[in-house]
Amino acid sequence: MPDRKEELVTEPNLYPGLYIVATPIGNLGDISARALDVLTRVAAVACEDTRVTGKLLHHAGIRQKLVRYDDHADPAVRERLLAMAETEAVALVSDAGTPLISDPGYRLVREARKRGIEVVSIPGPSALIVALTLSGLPTDRFLFGGFLPAKDKARRDILAELGAVRATLIFYETAPRLLDSLAALEATLPGREVAVARELTKKFEECRTGQVAELEAHFTAHPPKGEIVVMIAPPGDARPVDLDVDALLRAELATQKPSQAAARLAKAHGLDRKTLYARALELK
Ligand code: SAM
Repeated sequence: MPDRKEELVTEPNLYPGLYIVATPIGNLGDISARALDVLTRVAAVACEDTRVTGKLLHHAGIRQKLVRYDDHADPAVRERLLAMAETEAVALVSDAGTPLISDPGYRLVREARKRGIEVVSIPGPSALIVALTLSGLPTDRFLFGGFLPAKDKARRDILAELGAVRATLIFYETAPRLLDSLAALEATLPGREVAVARELTKKFEECRTGQVAELEAHFTAHPPKGEIVVMIAPPGDARPVDLDVDALLRAELATQKPSQAAARLAKAHGLDRKTLYARALELK
């Protein structure tokens, strides 16, 4: 078999298989030349919503056969797409960004690989990467947690569990839930530096990084709209020059015993619990 990837742009026919094609998360200019080429030439495009993908393809001047696909919907549709991908090139897109990332496609890819169907990924935008690169938070190690749960208890449990991991945490969020999530963050991981990225690659793009209280004040005064990514610094990442340990301890001591205050701040910032406890006793 010739080198498939070398020939993608020049080969008159794509090889049979499943092509996972990333699409823009806002700015239509972010679609790649390779994505356009593949979307033009596949036999069909599987998508979440035919109206959303229809608009994108119309904007690009591409006419295609669209098939609605959702991992949790009719298994017969998956079967049909897999049968097609055995003899023809079939693309999978989502409404925005990279398919499979908090979007459908996992079951389709898993099944395709099981059956020996070629799977090719055409890379492009994903909100989590765009957000991380803007945030100013550490990028050397990160953990993507998908959507934060809507229920408060589940949300706090996830934050407490993942908060111990030495990595920047990244979550998808919706605008109506942002303030509840910030409150849950303040309660479970007090003092952590947090970033909120909104409307990435769009006209009203913004990314704010700071203490939770600052972000809560801002988004209370300016209720958030649009699509949102929340990021949380790893434990111990707060730089000593930025961290006012006494102020944080005083805030904790208003509602807790010195031992609890020290334990919470030690966990949140990766600081020494005994040192914090000694200082808490002095401040009390
Ligand atoms: N597959 C997509 C990706 O690769 O980023 C994610 C799809 S998921 C259903 C939608 C969520 O992604 C939104 O609720 C939001 O949290 C995030 N998102 C998508 N586009 C965004 C944007 N332009 N700005 C900020 N967040 C975005």
